[in-house]
Amino acid sequence: MRRLTLLTLACVIGVVSAGCSRPAGTREAATEALGAAELRSIEYSGTGRWFQLGQAPGPTLPWPQFDVSSFTATVDYQTPGARVQMARRQTVEPGRTRPAPVEQRPVQIVSGTFAWNMAPPAGAPPNAPPAPQPQPAAVEERVMEIWTTPHGFLKAAAANNATSQPTEGGSDVSFTADGHRYVGQINAQNQVERVQAWIDNPVLGDTPVEISYSDYRDFGGVMFPGRIQRTQGGYPVLDITVSSVTANPTVDLQVPEAVRSFAPPPVNVIVDKLANGVYYLRGGTHHSLAIDQADHIVVVEGPQNEARSEAVIAKAKELIPNKPIRYVVNTHVHFDHSGGLRTFVDEGATVVTHAMNRPYYEQAWAAPRTINPDRLAKSGKSAMFETVTGKHVLTDGRRSIELHEIAGSGHNDAYLLVYLPTEGIAFQSDAYTPAAPNAPPPTAANPYSVNLMENIQRLKLNVRQFAPGHGPGVATMASLRAVITPAGTN
Ligand SMILES: [Zn+2]
Repeated sequence: MRRLTLLTLACVIGVVSAGCSRPAGTREAATEALGAAELRSIEYSGTGRWFQLGQAPGPTLPWPQFDVSSFTATVDYQTPGARVQMARRQTVEPGRTRPAPVEQRPVQIVSGTFAWNMAPPAGAPPNAPPAPQPQPAAVEERVMEIWTTPHGFLKAAAANNATSQPTEGGSDVSFTADGHRYVGQINAQNQVERVQAWIDNPVLGDTPVEISYSDYRDFGGVMFPGRIQRTQGGYPVLDITVSSVTANPTVDLQVPEAVRSFAPPPVNVIVDKLANGVYYLRGGTHHSLAIDQADHIVVVEGPQNEARSEAVIAKAKELIPNKPIRYVVNTHVHFDHSGGLRTFVDEGATVVTHAMNRPYYEQAWAAPRTINPDRLAKSGKSAMFETVTGKHVLTDGRRSIELHEIAGSGHNDAYLLVYLPTEGIAFQSDAYTPAAPNAPPPTAANPYSVNLMENIQRLKLNVRQFAPGHGPGVATMASLRAVITPAGTN
């Protein structure tokens, strides 16, 4: 420490010595020390942990953890492009029941303005050969990952007129690129120690992404951190111990024709009428329900994002004209089931959710939304809530809509089942997802589905039709029973 301080001082007063031609702790000194200007590409590998953003099993819990047995990131700073591959398996939390974890091997690529995954096509068996799956919505985040690597940060700082603020022994460097603000800390050892950036998220708004880099060492000629820890939305999303680094590897990230020519299909809403005034709204990956009450509409589930919600709202109003959407029921806080709620709030709907979720949404929705302001950010309306513990009933005096807590599920601790007693219709998300028509029968019972059945029996619900939040369409108690007693079990 003493030696470094003297070295820093020597640099500051302009004494030129070996390894010190610029004041220490500056962007220029870090660029020189890390060889950032000359580096065209890099590949780094390691092991560690990955965490699934937005899928916490309860509103106050961190993102769930996966063990990463292999991780390789290959970055081309010139295109720019990157490929990240890993092998990971969920770590089941003590005391929580989840389906038996299976190894996942995602391959995620970005090249210029195109992003895609390599994976078996949708509906193909998991061992089918991987093919490019276009992921246009992922470009922004994957490009950000390039410019938040230590070398990438210094390159982007140089290219975007970064400003520097001296700190004790180092400096804070900040700049804006592609509409995103980046702030990095350079330490007295001329290392990029921490980088912060912000990305939009439908639930969290301007979401901080923070990466800390530690244990720098010389990996065969290139200085690189031995440990990379990333948090997003306040909880860890990645923690990698780096074991090998290659400077300037050849990187081939040719954009496949199927990705280059891909046009995202328009948001589509398909309607299944389940009963008088009860409409199942499908057409994408996440489904909703619209219910015609005497002088208002109840929508169950506001999934994904504003685009999905706007399409669901338009369809609900077309099916049930001249009535306001008074309530939107939220099954649980997982982001893919809550990302569209704010649009319903702007529409004037009260959010009906488990009591544990209310403080979570209130806090999350108070965050700034400058990157991608949604309707609610523009209107400034405040959210209204009606909360559920145990059981809650929404009624117009004629039709009852019962909301029941799904107790004891490993999937989520603040989890609702929607039940229409007169019609015998139940809506739930993720506890039971019917398989595609040609899928092979399950080899083991899904514990979330077993738990759902236990709740239905405990509550003595007479379910005649399931409207699940995912899957190919309506299902029955017989089909639920079939998946929780797979062949060979009893
Ligand atoms: Zn879920």
